[in-house]
Amino acid sequence: MGFSTDAVHAGQEVDAATGAVSVPIYQTSTYKLIELGKTTGYDYARTINPTRSALERSMAALEKGKAGFAFASGMAAINAIFSMLSSGDHVVLSQNVYGGTFRLINGVLKNFSLGFTFVDTSDIRQIEEAMTPATKMVFVETPTNPVLSLTDIQAVAALCRARSAVLVVDNTFMSPYLQSPITLGADIVVHSTTKFINGHSDSIGGAVVAVRDEHVDRLRFIQKSAGAVLSPFDSWLVLRGIKTLGVRMDRHETNARMVADFLDGHSRVKRVLYPGLDSHPQHELARRQGKGFGAMITFELDGYAAVKRFLDSLTVCTLAESLGGVETLISHPATMTHASVPAEERKRIGITDSMVRIAVGIEDAEDLIADLDSGLTAVGSSAA
Ligand SMILES: *Cc1c(COP(=O)(O)O)cnc(C)c1O
Repeated sequence: MGFSTDAVHAGQEVDAATGAVSVPIYQTSTYKLIELGKTTGYDYARTINPTRSALERSMAALEKGKAGFAFASGMAAINAIFSMLSSGDHVVLSQNVYGGTFRLINGVLKNFSLGFTFVDTSDIRQIEEAMTPATKMVFVETPTNPVLSLTDIQAVAALCRARSAVLVVDNTFMSPYLQSPITLGADIVVHSTTKFINGHSDSIGGAVVAVRDEHVDRLRFIQKSAGAVLSPFDSWLVLRGIKTLGVRMDRHETNARMVADFLDGHSRVKRVLYPGLDSHPQHELARRQGKGFGAMITFELDGYAAVKRFLDSLTVCTLAESLGGVETLISHPATMTHASVPAEERKRIGITDSMVRIAVGIEDAEDLIADLDSGLTAVGSSAA
């Protein structure tokens, strides 16, 4: 079946008891046994809930994996993946992974005798050089936030296979509609469903999809044991979002290309980072690796004062963290999403105070461009 047919139907079979077309919200904590020693297959809702199971089947189908697991947040999903490690294990990660992943490692997991090395995973040699006999996992985010640097998933997958390391890809920025890491050789895919998957900025959630039986079994055990499961209501909301994932991503993409072209041609914009532009250093890889270029664009103005005047004058784009919702969100990474990254580290990764990140929504592109245009005009008039 095609992607959008799966998005509408996979894992969401019509309810056998009632014929309900929308998967019901099973708001229950426990289930009655048929008789002593015999359950319906459902015993306690931390372990299994039919609404959550539908979402988990849906995610597994869309990410081409064997099983999916839904968590209370993207961070809970990532924490479950790191819980698969044993003390002494080593992990190589993309140097500008999501800030929350960085905080989880540096503030929590560093106390557990695990080793973490951050490298520029767009350079496969850096991954190879960082790997040791203890390296059990490589964790990649592509494209990265906010500098939109890409990692060649197929090349890293080959390296991981040769070294018996598990390849995990955080696919939040692209969604399974635009990028299919398991098809490219990854073992595990993780999402913050908070972003494009749910798509409406009204739920926090996460999902892990695995393809190998031993990972599936271990993740199921960790999910049940640590218990950071997604609620039935949020599972239902995310399922509702998934049905339109394909049409939303098409629109996000079309808008993003128009916005990127507009910014690229504007005299007050110093630089535009968007994998869909010919000028992006990894444009060819972006073409090869994905079915599109996503809806995240980062661009630079002339200094912090210009950025402030620009952001404060926008009326359609909303000044907020997060991404992937139907509404266009715009942010200043240095003081918002990446404020907790030390200035020196920001500089090393290439995050400047002049950078603005835009997560393009599904509004009319003309209105977004008019808003950005008036913001850029405001920069000029006050600068004089
Ligand atoms: C938002 C995000 C996360 C964390 O997800 P939450 O749902 O906020 O916990 C992880 N990775 C990426 C790339 C994200 O954008």
